Amino acid sequence: MKHKILDRLIKAFNSLPGIGPKMAERLAYYIVHTNNEEATELADAIREIKSKIILCKQCFAPSENEICSICSDDRRDHTTICITENIEGLIAIEKTKKYNGIYYILGGSISPLEGITTKDLKLDKLMNYTNGAKEIIIATNPNTDGDITANYIAKMIRPKNIKVTRLAYGLPMGGSLEYADEITLTRSLESRKEL
Ligand SMILES: [Zn+2]
Repeated sequence: MKHKILDRLIKAFNSLPGIGPKMAERLAYYIVHTNNEEATELADAIREIKSKIILCKQCFAPSENEICSICSDDRRDHTTICITENIEGLIAIEKTKKYNGIYYILGGSISPLEGITTKDLKLDKLMNYTNGAKEIIIATNPNTDGDITANYIAKMIRPKNIKVTRLAYGLPMGGSLEYADEITLTRSLESRKEL
C-alpha cells in the first residue's frame, strides 16, 4: 500500500536521529492506529517546543528565555566554563550535581568522516565567551571526533592563558557522555586533566 500522507509521516520519522526506515514505518503505523488525543498531543508538543524554546544567547542550551536558567544563576561560578557537544552532555554533567560552573554547547564535534568542520560548530563566539574565564573544561565525547575537537579548542584557547582541562577518561572510549553513569562521570570530572 502506497499512501502519500502516510509516506510523509514515515519520511518525517526517518529523518530523526537513530530512527531507520523500519522503525519510522512502525511509528507511523502506530500513529495511524492510536487515538486522536495521543496523536494530537504529540503534534502539539512538537509545535509548542518550536514556538517557545529558543537557544540561550550565551551558552546555546535550549531555553524558554533569551538567557537560560544556568547562565542567569548568580550562585553558579561564571569563571568556569564546561564545553559540551550537545544538550545531552550538559544534562549528563548536571546530573552528577558536582559541577557548579556554566556551559557552552558546541552543536556537535569536528568529524572528518562526516564532513563536519570547525565552521559547522559554534566556535566563533567561544573566544569572546571565554574572556575572564579561569578554567575551561572540555567535555566532548570520549571518541575520535571528541578528541579532535578537544585538541582544536585547547589550541585555540591556549594563547589566552586560561587553564584548559578535559574530563579524565575512565569513560568508555567510543561512547558518548550521555551514556556514562553518574559515578563514572563524577570521577571523570573530579580527575580532569590539564591539556
Ligand atoms: Zn545559557
